[in-house]
Amino acid sequence: MAVKLSENAKLIIERLQRSGYSCYAVGGCVRDSLMGRAPHDWDFTTSALPDDIERVFADCKTVTIGKRFGTVAVILDDHPYEITTYRIDGDYSDTRHPDEVQFSDRLIDDLSRRDFTVNAMAYNETDGLIDLYGGRDDLSYGVIRCVGEPSERFSEDALRILRALRFAATLGFSIEAKTSEAILRQRKLLSGISAERIRDELLKLLCGDKVDFILRRYRSVIAVFIPELQGTFDFEQHSKHHNRDVYRHIVAAVKNIESDPLLRTTMLFHDIGKPLAQTTDKHGICHYKNHPKIGAEMTREILRRLCMPSAFIEEVCILIRYHDERFKPDPVMLKGYLKELGMERMGRICKIQRADILAQSSYLRDEKLSNLDAVEKELRRIKESGECYNLRMLAVSGVDLLHIGISSGIVIGQTLDALLDKVIAGELPNEKEPLLNFAKNAFDKD
Ligand code: ATP
Ligand code: MG
Repeated sequence: MAVKLSENAKLIIERLQRSGYSCYAVGGCVRDSLMGRAPHDWDFTTSALPDDIERVFADCKTVTIGKRFGTVAVILDDHPYEITTYRIDGDYSDTRHPDEVQFSDRLIDDLSRRDFTVNAMAYNETDGLIDLYGGRDDLSYGVIRCVGEPSERFSEDALRILRALRFAATLGFSIEAKTSEAILRQRKLLSGISAERIRDELLKLLCGDKVDFILRRYRSVIAVFIPELQGTFDFEQHSKHHNRDVYRHIVAAVKNIESDPLLRTTMLFHDIGKPLAQTTDKHGICHYKNHPKIGAEMTREILRRLCMPSAFIEEVCILIRYHDERFKPDPVMLKGYLKELGMERMGRICKIQRADILAQSSYLRDEKLSNLDAVEKELRRIKESGECYNLRMLAVSGVDLLHIGISSGIVIGQTLDALLDKVIAGELPNEKEPLLNFAKNAFDKD
């Protein structure tokens, strides 16, 4: 597969070349393009300095992303194209940021600072593919290999440890032996990396197709920043429902759900509370009654520490809280849950339960799956029928209750809630008159 530049990518390279600079597409876009995947972003590396780039693209909108680091984004068709001056990274005294960056006029300097061979290729139509470290071969064999000596590269910037796992998981690649050994040996360096950088790589890793392999093989690396997972490693479940230890079950469940950051994160943590929740009955069988609640609390702490957005944290915790709820395809029961959780979230919980069941032993699996099918079918029916399960759908509102003389806000709230419960239970029709009559009677009695 050859690199095929987009029209805007060609325009950028040609314009800089006409002004006397060299310029190449570089990094992820070259890698993806060689793999036959459409790059989601085009990045460029050039001999032009940031001020030169701004001058060459003076007629376009530009955003200076970090002049000190040499990056200017040129906006074409509402899309940012990042152009960075060739640079040599200085010392990494904190294994986090280069202390300084030095601009260079040589492409080779820029390629040698990049993390992996498959990410260190450059391309333009004048010179073709520039591949100084065997990136093309590694790409065709599916290998992640550091540019240069792995241990040095990981000591310079330890995030590369997690990036290696991320690329292996998303591209489905293996990790070259020396790179892999250095990852395992130097994993603790990750504790010096900011939570935000870890978060971004972790979410991408989780969405990878080969996430299961990476989470198993490199669990000790993940445990550097999520030590709470260690309790699940090799933790036997002693239950007919399971044929894997808790961690292996977790990993299988992550793999079983669609590649979505929220759902994959939920699966990673859904059973983290099990080791703490375990009780053993007189027959030696283990139970995990409170594990969703305990797990949700542990997860909240972990996701806060990883600086995940608070709405994301809340949602993951709710999903974990309800992941083991025993639903039946019963309209009254399901509408009770819908009242609390809403239709969209109930849909997510069903997906989570399916992924969970498929990662369990075959004991009662068919029964569990057909029950879940029936639950999903009933949820669809409720949705399509428009039957009432929340206050917005109720045929009376707070204003209606004011009109019949109920003036206290608290009583209005309680009455609406009671009416909704009656409608859900099928004891009252969702129609204005009977609901108001019921409310009036109940109010007159008080
Ligand atoms: P994606 O498709 O996820 O954007 P990408 O390869 O473009 O993949 P980015 O994180 O956008 O990854 O980084 C762009 C390029 O910058 C990489 O391909 C790599 O050459 C270089 N790079 C990024 N982070 C590092 C790092 N920590 N150390 C060395 N090089 C890096
Ligand atoms: Mg990128």
